Amino acid sequence: MVSAPVAPRIIPVRQARFISCAGNPPPIIMPYSVVTDDLFRAHDHPGHPESQARLEAALTGVPADARRIAPTKAAPDDLARVHTHRHITAIRSFCEECPPGRACYIDPDTYVTSGSFDAALYAAGAAILAVERALDGEHSFALVRPPGHHAVPDRAMGFCLFNNVAVATAQALREVARVAIIDWDLHHGNGTQAAFYTSDRVLYCSVHQAGTFPGTGWPDEQGAGPGVGYTINIPLAAGSTGADYALVFREVFVPAIRGFKPALLVVSAGQDPLFDDPLGSM
Ligand SMILES: [Zn+2]
Repeated sequence: MVSAPVAPRIIPVRQARFISCAGNPPPIIMPYSVVTDDLFRAHDHPGHPESQARLEAALTGVPADARRIAPTKAAPDDLARVHTHRHITAIRSFCEECPPGRACYIDPDTYVTSGSFDAALYAAGAAILAVERALDGEHSFALVRPPGHHAVPDRAMGFCLFNNVAVATAQALREVARVAIIDWDLHHGNGTQAAFYTSDRVLYCSVHQAGTFPGTGWPDEQGAGPGVGYTINIPLAAGSTGADYALVFREVFVPAIRGFKPALLVVSAGQDPLFDDPLGSM
């Protein structure tokens, strides 16, 4: 989820792992970690597209020798760097009022359970921990549920309760001047865009399938006020391929990020652009 081009540190060889072995140019050797936990199953509704089965499927791709780290819980004040207190309180109350063993719907897409508020605090906390480890010179991947990039400052939507990436980015901005976010989820990260739309300290780059939920993410959404030019949206037509994504990265995202010179790169790494995802058409 997160990697950071920070000052090089001396890494003991036994901690080093190969992250990229593409053969060109030399492989990157950095320690890496996976921040995850079984506790996210407290937010689950079997049969819903966003269920624990999704995380378990993703975990099958994590190497067995990857260093796994348990997340810490985000504090409500951490969430409040992005979300309104009213939203935080509303989600907590909605979860408390949901009978144990049931799923309660905030909107037609987005459910909570009685355990979702705690799970969501851990999800945001995992993203914060991954960012902190990245700032310390490590690749860190937070595998969490519930997801976050659709959650706007005052509302949950699109399966998302709190915006994990935005909360982690806001935490990082306390330590560094600039953070770049790449969001390669199939859908536009409207919540993440909204969180930093007027900021010139966050470069938000999203590539997504055009015309899908939530209907935002058009090229003319470029930021507002001091943030003009710091939001880049590339909607791709259904059926786009890996070559199209490579073109977007090579011609747009990488040059923009190089010019921006962020201290940290956060990746909102939704896996639904993969060709066999039932909700996508890439
Ligand atoms: Zn998505």
